Amino acid sequence: RKEITRLPPWLRTSIPGGKDAKGNNFKRIQNDLRGLNLHTVCEEARCPNISECWGGSDKSTATATIMLMGDTCTRGCRFCSVKTSKTPLALDPHEPEHVAEALSRWGLGYVVLTSVDRDDLADGGAHHFASTISKIKQKAPNMLVEALTGDFAGDLDMVKLVAQSGLDVYAHNVETVEELTAMVRDRRATFRQSLTVLEAAKAAKEGLITKTSIMLGLGETEEEIWKALKELRKVSVDIVTFGQYMRPTKRHMKVEEYVSPEVFELWRQRAMDLGFLYCASGPLVRSSYKAGEAFIENVLK
Ligand code: SF4
Ligand code: SF4
Repeated sequence: RKEITRLPPWLRTSIPGGKDAKGNNFKRIQNDLRGLNLHTVCEEARCPNISECWGGSDKSTATATIMLMGDTCTRGCRFCSVKTSKTPLALDPHEPEHVAEALSRWGLGYVVLTSVDRDDLADGGAHHFASTISKIKQKAPNMLVEALTGDFAGDLDMVKLVAQSGLDVYAHNVETVEELTAMVRDRRATFRQSLTVLEAAKAAKEGLITKTSIMLGLGETEEEIWKALKELRKVSVDIVTFGQYMRPTKRHMKVEEYVSPEVFELWRQRAMDLGFLYCASGPLVRSSYKAGEAFIENVLK
């Protein structure tokens, strides 16, 4: 409670309810979702952007994020509230078919598929990801698909497999600057390894768009952010997003700073000046924030 009252004004936002300020009714899409038995990160994380992502009047730009491969991760990053275990449940072999079928009935324009990290599986779940993507493209060829994957423990063949499965955007988050990576992410994740994942995805398929995301407010310096952006451009990453780190519970890392909307805007401009295709940047921005609308406006046009 105390934590909430200390939030700066730009972060005091209500949990999604019915209609947003513009009268968009995301309930309509939420109702469509009932009966499809799909688990969206948007609902489960009670994402404050749900009205904007789901609620536009045009369903062809509506975006949702789906979590694959269960709710238990083999890693433990210090900013993340997902459950951790060395031995998560086995994969559901019917999930790719089921997700593809449900998404094609839902009929939204843009889907982000993400997952927990599965270091317990020999392929890190890459075949499961690839199979879900190709089945979606068979059933709903016009749906734009973004995969937000882990680093597959640096196995670039697995990155290639996913990158060549028919998706439109390959996303992998560096999460923070190189200097803070050891403190913020699981020890198995490194900034360099993430760069090689993004580089391999870009090389795997001509014209594939790559994307990453950085949280601000963890104590990173301006110089470190500049350095990270330049490294990302060196491996031809196309899209970058910036959002505020929010502490999920007291057991997680502290917020070092609430970065103002003006500073987020400054980083958006700087990223654009460095040659990124587009950049979403703001306190509440998450890597999938209005991804459909942004992709259609900035990449397809
Ligand atoms: Fe959370 Fe991803 Fe880290 Fe797993 S790998 S703990 S899901 S951020
Ligand atoms: Fe869903 Fe991502 Fe949009 Fe949040 S930002 S509503 S998780 S698509």
